[in-house]
Amino acid sequence: MKTIIGNWKMNGSRAKLAEMIADLSQIETQNRVVLCVPFTMLDIDSGTINLGAQDVSAHKSGAYTGEVSAEMIAEVGAKYVIVGHSERRMYHDETNDIVRAKAQMALENGITPIICVGETMDEKRAGKTMDVIEACVRESVPNDVHDDIIIAYEPRWAIGAGITPTTQEIADAHRVIADTLSYMGLDGTPILYGASVNVSNASDIVAIKNVGGLLIGGASLKSADLIPIIESVK
Ligand code: PEP
Repeated sequence: MKTIIGNWKMNGSRAKLAEMIADLSQIETQNRVVLCVPFTMLDIDSGTINLGAQDVSAHKSGAYTGEVSAEMIAEVGAKYVIVGHSERRMYHDETNDIVRAKAQMALENGITPIICVGETMDEKRAGKTMDVIEACVRESVPNDVHDDIIIAYEPRWAIGAGITPTTQEIADAHRVIADTLSYMGLDGTPILYGASVNVSNASDIVAIKNVGGLLIGGASLKSADLIPIIESVK
């Protein structure tokens, strides 16, 4: 079984999500499918499709205007939450420490955190990819994890860019993440690849060693794009 997660970002509507859930319920797949949608859609009845949020507060409750806590998203049905997406790291200055606190809040509320790690183009050009990824995993994953977590390797320069790393680069990144998780006692944690996945590259990417599934942005917004990807992933 592979894990396929759609990240709708700030797109869609409740009606569009209901349509997609109806479309997805027609297909047969062994894969775990999760749609990470805006907060306002999390209460929709989603059948066998899991819903997740795209961010969560690092705080339990209190004077944090505009933030939404893990307890609140759990209450409306979120089973998963993306933390540390590159857009949060870039536009909201989220550090590994903040990401770890968010992941911890998710775990404390029975929500599986999808922890995003990845290098910028400057870091890649400087030959720092593996060091950055390793540090991201060590510093963004909470201590003493006893429940499921998911790691998503998302090279930040490739998100929404229509380009992907080479097979070797993806394999190398996933090996470093798998080794780091193993050192932390977290063998078996699914490690997804994300950034510019589409129906033409999905099955090749999931065939790479240590790739446990996909995190998909743009191509998760329409059933016509997402369903062939889910069906191509065995
Ligand atoms: C993402 O934003 O997590 C992502 C993977 O986007 P895209 O697939 O559009 O590159």
